[in-house]
Amino acid sequence: MSYQKLKGTLDFYQQEAAKMRFIEEKAKTILNTFGFEEIITPIIEPTDVFVRSSGDSSDIVNKEMYTFNDRGNRSITLRPEGTASVVRSFLENKLYVNSPLTKLYYCGPMFRYERPQAGRYRQFMQFGIEVFGEGSAFLDADVIISAYQLLSALGIKGIQLKINTIGDFISRKDYAAKLQAYFAGKMDDFCEDCQKRLTKNPLRILDCKVDANKDIVQQAPKIKDSLSAASLSHFKKVTDILSMMQIPYQVDETLVRGLDYYTDTVFEFILAVPGELQGLAICAGGKYADLVKNFGGPDIPGIGYAFGMERIMMVMNSQSLFVDTFKKTDVVMICLDEDSKKVGLAFANHLRSENLTVEMDYKNYSLKQQFKLADRVNPRYILIIGEEERTSGIFTIKHTQKNTQEKIKKENIVTYISDKNNENS
Ligand code: ATP
Ligand code: MG
Repeated sequence: MSYQKLKGTLDFYQQEAAKMRFIEEKAKTILNTFGFEEIITPIIEPTDVFVRSSGDSSDIVNKEMYTFNDRGNRSITLRPEGTASVVRSFLENKLYVNSPLTKLYYCGPMFRYERPQAGRYRQFMQFGIEVFGEGSAFLDADVIISAYQLLSALGIKGIQLKINTIGDFISRKDYAAKLQAYFAGKMDDFCEDCQKRLTKNPLRILDCKVDANKDIVQQAPKIKDSLSAASLSHFKKVTDILSMMQIPYQVDETLVRGLDYYTDTVFEFILAVPGELQGLAICAGGKYADLVKNFGGPDIPGIGYAFGMERIMMVMNSQSLFVDTFKKTDVVMICLDEDSKKVGLAFANHLRSENLTVEMDYKNYSLKQQFKLADRVNPRYILIIGEEERTSGIFTIKHTQKNTQEKIKKENIVTYISDKNNENS
C-alpha cells in the first residue's frame, strides 16, 4: 500500500525546507530589532477560543475549521490563525502585569479547510506578530513598518501596501445598516454566502472572493462616511507617519478583512507585479481595540499581522531571491581501505567539531567510486587517506576549484582549510 499526503498539504524537504527556515530566520532577525519576543502556543485549542474571536459569521468559523471531539468529549480545533491563541495565552499568563507593552511573534502551521489551489493550502505556515497595550497611531505605523522592513530584508520587489480604516464598533454598526439598505434587492446573482451575509454581516460582502469585483459592490457606500472624527483622525495620523517614513501605500476603501475583531487600521501587503502571482496577498493584519476585553480580559488594545510563508516562498522563487540558503560542504573524505575508513571517520568528526561540514563515503573503497560521491557533493576540499597517509599522518588534500593537490600534516589541516588564502570558493 502506498500513501499520499492529504489534499492541500505540502512536504518541504532539503532545499525547500532550507528556504522555509531562511525566511523564518530573517523574519526573527528583523523583529528582534523591533523588540519582539517569541511565543509558542499549542496547535490545538478549545474551539470556543476561535469562535469567540473570529466571529460566528466569519468564513473561518463557518466553513474552514478542523474541529473534532477528543476522547473526553471536548470540542477541540486545530488553530486556523494565530491571534486568538496568542490573546488566550496573553490573558491566561497575565503577561500584561509585567509590562505596559507586550510585543510577541509566532511561527507555525495553521489549518483551514479551504479549496486548495496555488498559494492556498489546508495546512500552511504563518509568521505573525501581536502587540498589546497601546492604541497609538505611532504603534500602528511602526507595526506596518516592521512588516515592510521584513519584506525589504528578504529582497522582495513589487509589493504594494493597501491600508484602510474600518472604525470602531458603533460606526461599523451604522455602516452595516447602510450597506443592508443599499444591497437589498440588488443581490439576485450574488453567491449563497453573500445572501446570508446581507443579514448577518453585510461588511463581508465587500470581502467576498466571488462577488467583490462586481460593480454593485465597488459602488457601495464607503465606510469612511460612517466613521467617527476620532477614527478618521487616527487614520490620518497613521498614513501621515507612513508618508514621513517614505513607506509607499495605497488607501483601499473596500479593504475590510475577513475577521470580526478588527477595529480602525487594517492593511494588506499584496504582490503588484504583472504575472501569475499578481494580486497574491502575502501579509494581512490590523488593529483590534476590543478583542482582549471581549475575551474577558482587561481593556487592552492590540494590533497584529500574519505572513503566509509559502506565499513568500513562491514570490521569492519567482524573483530568484534564494542564493545563500545552503551551507556548502567543506570536505569529502575519501578513504581507501577499512583501516583508513576508521581513521577517516574519526578525522571527519574532529573537523566537524571545528564547525566544518564533512561527508564521507561509507561503502566504497575504490578511488573512482568515491570520486563519484565527491563530484555530486562538490565540496571545497577532498581529503584522501590510504595506507601511506594513515601511517605517516600526512594527508593528501585536494582543492577542488583550483584543481591543486598538497600533502599536509593532519594536525595542520584545520588551519590550512580556514586560511583565507586558500578560501576562494
Ligand atoms: P485570503 O484573502 O488570501 O484568504 P485571509 O484574509 O484569509 O487571506 P489571513 O487570515 O489574514 O488571510 O492570513 C494572513 C496571510 O496568511 C494571508 O495574507 C496569506 O498570505 C496567508 N494565508 C491565509 N490563508 C492561507 C492558506 N489557506 N494557504 C496559504 N496561505 C494562507
Ligand atoms: Mg481566507
